[in-house]
Amino acid sequence: MKVIRDALQLQKIAFKHLKEGDEIGLVPTMGAFHNGHVSLIEKSVKNDDITIVSIFVNPIQFGPDEDYLKYPRPVKKDLEICKKNHVDYVFMPSVNDMFPKAHKTFVEVKTLQDIMCGAFRPIHFRGVATVVSKLFNISCADRAYFGMKDFQQLKIIEKMTKDLNFRTKIVPCPIVREKSGLALSSRNSYLSDEEKSLSLNISKILKEVAKEFKNKSLTAVKKKAVNKLKKIPNSKIDYAEIVSAKDLSPADKNTKKAVFAVAVWIGKTRLIDNTKMTK
Ligand code: AMP
Repeated sequence: MKVIRDALQLQKIAFKHLKEGDEIGLVPTMGAFHNGHVSLIEKSVKNDDITIVSIFVNPIQFGPDEDYLKYPRPVKKDLEICKKNHVDYVFMPSVNDMFPKAHKTFVEVKTLQDIMCGAFRPIHFRGVATVVSKLFNISCADRAYFGMKDFQQLKIIEKMTKDLNFRTKIVPCPIVREKSGLALSSRNSYLSDEEKSLSLNISKILKEVAKEFKNKSLTAVKKKAVNKLKKIPNSKIDYAEIVSAKDLSPADKNTKKAVFAVAVWIGKTRLIDNTKMTK
């Protein structure tokens, strides 16, 4: 396994692999690995000849009052996990290499970037789409792996890939959860024991209401979930939305495949989760 810090160097290596007929998989991450990340890495190692994992806490996707500085960065442990899982290259660029002061180009996915999480984190998805575009070009990836945990992000990347004719194929990966149901997240490490036990309610509530999607109206399902979410002590709901799994448009009675997506604060930690609902 090689650790590469220079974008141009990785691009040269990637071109060489493409020329040799290798297929390249990319797993873009911000590090602080848990089994959710590992599931993406395993998929790429299985599918692709070469697996590149990028670890980059991307400053341009964090708002001024967000957790950029305190975001966990356990680099040594992350590299051990990559090695153990047979990753070929870990790309760990510096902020200055990715976004020097002279950087002026940004990618926006209109409309999709402004709803749900985007309504509360206005620059977030522009930062994500921009960094992912760069990573696609640097890695020359045939396939890139994204978790459904960040469902809106996945849909935005799919749309960006289509609109901008990237050759990279997007591979959606299922949400990995603790036995308790809590969706794994690097931000779970911010939770105290008490907050963690409160946060278990989120996945429980989603699971419960998802069962009722077949028989109840959308309004009834949403109302029930919101009422239950509101009752979690020390919590605040940013949003709870039922949207089309295809394009994040608001679900209606004809929507066959929907996603119930929520963002809920437990104390000072913002958690997102979602569940598929099918008719
Ligand atoms: P992050 O490091 O949080 O930017 O996440 C890197 C990738 O891992 C993204 O594609 C996430 O959607 C994915 N991911 C994060 N948590 C999970 C999870 N619990 N299950 C599956 N994928 C995940």
